[in-house]
Amino acid sequence: MYAPPVQRLITELSKLPGVGGRTAQRLAFHLLRTSDEEALALARAISEVKERIGLCETCFNLADGPSCRICADERRDSEVICVVEEPSDVISIERTHEFRGRYHVLQGAISPIEGIGPEQLRVRELMRRVTDEGITEVILATNPNIEGEATAMYLARLLKPLGLTVTRIASGLPVGGDLEYADEVTLGRALEGRREVG
Ligand SMILES: [Zn+2]
Repeated sequence: MYAPPVQRLITELSKLPGVGGRTAQRLAFHLLRTSDEEALALARAISEVKERIGLCETCFNLADGPSCRICADERRDSEVICVVEEPSDVISIERTHEFRGRYHVLQGAISPIEGIGPEQLRVRELMRRVTDEGITEVILATNPNIEGEATAMYLARLLKPLGLTVTRIASGLPVGGDLEYADEVTLGRALEGRREVG
C-alpha cells in the first residue's frame, strides 16, 4: 500500500510502546509533511542518544561517560545506596529531593515468567559495591508490584547477613504500580517512611 521507505517508517514507529498501527501511520504522515530540518532533528536526536549515552560503570544509571552525574558528585553520601529497577526510577526519586545517597540500577526485576533471574540483573555488581564501598544502608526501592517485591525480598536475604541496615520503601504507593507513576510527595513519604527489613 505504501512505498517501501514509508512502510519501513510505519513499522519502526509501531514498535514504540503505546503506539499502535494507526498512530504509527499518523506519525509517519506527520513526519512526511514536516520540514526536512525538523524531521532530521528527530533522527539525529535518536542517533545521538544511542551513540553517546551508555551505562554508568558503577551504578548502571544512564551516563554520557564512564560515570553518571550522581556517582561523579562528591557531595553525595557515599555510604547509602538506593536500589531501583530502571534509570527512570532514579529520576523519580531525585524529584522528591529526599535522597542524598547514590543509586544502583538493577536493569529490571526478578520475573520467573519472563525468564529473568538474579543473573540477568546487576546483583553481583551490587554485592561487590556493598562490600568494597563501605556501605552502611541499602534502601530497596524496587516497584511495589509482585516482581519488585520478590526482588526486594531476594536482595534482603543476600544483604542482611553482611550486617548493614537494609530498608524497604514504605507502602502507601499505589500497589501494583511503578515508581514512575507515583507523584513526588507520595514517593518522598515512602522513602522517608522506609522500614528496616526484618
Ligand atoms: Zn552512577
